[in-house]
Amino acid sequence: MSKTIFDYSVPERSAVSLPPREIDGELANIISPKFLRKSPARLPELSELDVMRHYIQLSHKNHFIEKGLYPLGSCTMKYNPKIHEQLVRHSCFNNIHPYQHLHTLQGSLEILYELQKDLAEISGMAQVTLQPVAGAQGEFTGIKIIEAYHRAKGNSHKKKIILPDSAHGTNPASCALVGYEVVEIKSNSHGRIDLERLKEVIDDEVAGFMLTNPNTLGLFENQIEDIAALIHSVDGLVYMDGANLNALMGIVQPGKIGFDVMHFNLHKTFSTPHGGGGPGCGPVGVVDKLVPYLPVPMISKNEDGYFFDYSHENTSIGKVHTFYGNFAVMLRAYIYIRMMGPDGLRNASENAILNANYLMKLLEPYFHIEHREACMHEFVADGTWQKKENGISTLDIAKRLLDKGYHAPTVYFPLIVPEALMIEPTETESKESIDSFAQAMIEIAQECKSTPEILNEAPLTTPVRRVDDVRAVKVLDLKHEIKN
Ligand SMILES: *Cc1c(COP(=O)(O)O)cnc(C)c1O
Repeated sequence: MSKTIFDYSVPERSAVSLPPREIDGELANIISPKFLRKSPARLPELSELDVMRHYIQLSHKNHFIEKGLYPLGSCTMKYNPKIHEQLVRHSCFNNIHPYQHLHTLQGSLEILYELQKDLAEISGMAQVTLQPVAGAQGEFTGIKIIEAYHRAKGNSHKKKIILPDSAHGTNPASCALVGYEVVEIKSNSHGRIDLERLKEVIDDEVAGFMLTNPNTLGLFENQIEDIAALIHSVDGLVYMDGANLNALMGIVQPGKIGFDVMHFNLHKTFSTPHGGGGPGCGPVGVVDKLVPYLPVPMISKNEDGYFFDYSHENTSIGKVHTFYGNFAVMLRAYIYIRMMGPDGLRNASENAILNANYLMKLLEPYFHIEHREACMHEFVADGTWQKKENGISTLDIAKRLLDKGYHAPTVYFPLIVPEALMIEPTETESKESIDSFAQAMIEIAQECKSTPEILNEAPLTTPVRRVDDVRAVKVLDLKHEIKN
């Protein structure tokens, strides 16, 4: 167990020397003596350098993108340009307030207006709302829009939304939250939508269809036009979960191939560090016929400048977040899009795809990969060979990667792949860093045969070894005793 900052404490040692504190007349008048401490607070006493060293050492016990590759699948961008962090902290942006007068907010509104347009262009959609603050909330917003469309058309018989068994868990949850019945269809042997099964479940009650493209197996759903035609034939709408847009930027516009609604995850595709779960931004783009149902307000422009536009309030699904959503995430996305430009965005997608395919080829001889055709920005390998031959689970492999200096890939997702290892190197990794990661994975595959006991014990080098999750939940211990 490593030392806490209290263990380093030495009486009277301090970082800076300030004049002795005197509770003289004035302060004593403000604070009643009964509230003054009788004894000094038990704080650690250290020099500035001691403090710096302690926290730098602590930070290294964690894994972060600046320390090493982070192959988590379905999370997309891991490295975000540092200049974005500087720019969003600029006082022009971080001192504004949503209740300020519009004429003092024109610059910020212009950025939001332009971002709405850029995202519409990238996705081929007619209009985009920036308000939802997560991908999951974007899904909820999109499904509410589908519901509003059917209500306006008097489609009261629409009760169901169809989605594949490869879907992210938020998809069925969002449908259920809006009140739809979820119909799950099994993917075919190519990891794609099974058109025959889809035909069997399509009827007049279908309100919509939800699809991630590329799907969670890292495969492009190439029958999307046929799927869309089937859904549209019963006046259903087609929703795209755009969490994997990193594979499509500048290559495919979802709004042009049959999708009616989609969400973006700005915190996955367009910069913003997203470890720790937030804050995020999940804009929703729609085709023309769904524009009236978008949340209010939109950011619009007239002869007086930019303004919060409530003009479609009567048809809108309403507001989905306080004020206007997470401004700083939108700002990073805007900066990223403008810095990259159209060619840069396409380049990022192409590199993401190239890196994933290169890594997949390196690992193919050592790990089972069900769908070995060319992948998009990620691929799903699995640990079934290791499980069968050596009794090693994907969890063991993930833990062993920590010993080799890597974060684990996404494991046990998608649910339809046993022992799944979902790997996404992203566009920012060099050939050399991908080679090193592949080398670590290959070493692990060899260890599974030669020294499986190491795999059962891993991680061996981390400050905290394998934890007993079940016991941790049942026997909660949240205290750390300070020795005096
Ligand atoms: C991340 C993700 C989501 C949910 O997005 P959040 O921003 O985490 O709410 C939905 N679908 C897929 C495929 C994802 O990868």
